[in-house]
Amino acid sequence: KVRNANEPEFLQAVEEVFKSLEPVLEKHPEYISANILERITEPERQIIFRVSWVDDQGVLQINRGFRIQFNGALGPYKGGLRFHPSVYIGIIKFLGFEQIFKNALTGLPIGSGKGGSDFDPKGKSDGEVMRFCQSFMTELYRHIGPDVDVPAGDIGVGGREIGYLYGQYRRIKGVFENGVLTGKGLSYGGSLVRTQATGYGLIYFVDEMLKHNNKVLQGKTVVISGSGNVAIYACQKATALGAKVIAMSDSNGYIYDENGIDLPLVRQLKEVERKRIRSYLNFHPEAQYIEGCKNIWSIKCDIALPCATQNDISLENAKTLVANGVIAVGEGANMPCTNEAINYFLENKILLAPAKAANAGGVATSALEMSQNSMRYYWTFEEIETKLKNIMVTIHSNAAAASSEYGFGYNLVAGANIAGFKKVADAMMAQGNY
Ligand code: NDP
Repeated sequence: KVRNANEPEFLQAVEEVFKSLEPVLEKHPEYISANILERITEPERQIIFRVSWVDDQGVLQINRGFRIQFNGALGPYKGGLRFHPSVYIGIIKFLGFEQIFKNALTGLPIGSGKGGSDFDPKGKSDGEVMRFCQSFMTELYRHIGPDVDVPAGDIGVGGREIGYLYGQYRRIKGVFENGVLTGKGLSYGGSLVRTQATGYGLIYFVDEMLKHNNKVLQGKTVVISGSGNVAIYACQKATALGAKVIAMSDSNGYIYDENGIDLPLVRQLKEVERKRIRSYLNFHPEAQYIEGCKNIWSIKCDIALPCATQNDISLENAKTLVANGVIAVGEGANMPCTNEAINYFLENKILLAPAKAANAGGVATSALEMSQNSMRYYWTFEEIETKLKNIMVTIHSNAAAASSEYGFGYNLVAGANIAGFKKVADAMMAQGNY
């Protein structure tokens, strides 16, 4: 706590994991003697760099870039890049820490990394975004590689940004080494299903959790925060499986449409035109737009899917959701519920799908993209979607089994932490005292 005192998000993420580990450490004192807890919370490497770029007015702008190579015990460092003005080292560390356990849960050979910048892509021209990405990669390229560290997207980094980043990497290195990044466009080595993977995976996981508890997704009302990559494809799959999504948001406010969200319109507004969610009303005047994104959790729903950002659901929001009869919460974003909100949900027997497990479909499909790049052979949409679904079902059963083995009953928060931790801790033990 002293060493990381100015990083509240990182401390929050660590506290949440450590809470689940007591019975594990009791049963395996060898983890204590090998000092695993102290080692696993200290990144293997943290890189901070200057990113200078010229804006459309000809003014030189300076941002800060980050890449944290948190834990490489299971494979090359793997995790997204976030471009958002709130980014600082504590955000990247919390994300990188979560990523250790998430990547372990996928069952695929990937270590954990995370990075990004305090660059704000909002309101920037295409040219500005490209020049920023080129400058960012001009430093980052020396730290990454297909067998070293493989970044992907996160908030503010989608297909456009990955394209510019890969173009600059290829230009500097002079090789077509596309396994260095995932989330690429299909024409230069991207994988089918990667765009949909986190949102689809979230719904597969929630569906599995509901079935395990003799409930069904069909006919349920769903509220989703965010309207970015994760939110959009969670909405698409939830709707396809018979649920009704009635609200979505962005950082300015939310739309409520009791007839069910018109997703093709949201995709046009957000993915193509990069507009604010309030423009939805221009096409659906019967819907409502409410300024401010937090109140979205006051809408009565069966299932809440926070898919925007960290600490989106506070204790107060959790109380409102429970009072309104929510039965399940699926974390699409990373750490979207505060620890107090998580505890409240668990105390009130709400089914909770924790981010590490529930949003692991994105990175799992990224690992499948790496496999395809290595093979230089590409699977069909159906093949990959089947693999994704199997991975999500397996993560659910492994988390449920670990939870019950260590005396937590059916608590997927504890189970995901334990199953992920044990896999990484065992690999770290086997590799000596690094
Ligand atoms: P996008 O940038 O595509 O979308 C983010 C969405 O969340 C936007 O609607 C954005 O609104 C909203 N948002 C962002 N920051 C805030 C904020 N501070 N307050 C309120 N709303 C906010 O990102 P993704 O969909 O890719 O990521 C969403 C979450 O999912 C993140 O937590 C990310 O770490 C996590 N995640 C993503 C994966 C992926 O594959 N993309 C994989 C696993 C986890 P606005 O446009 O107004 O900023």
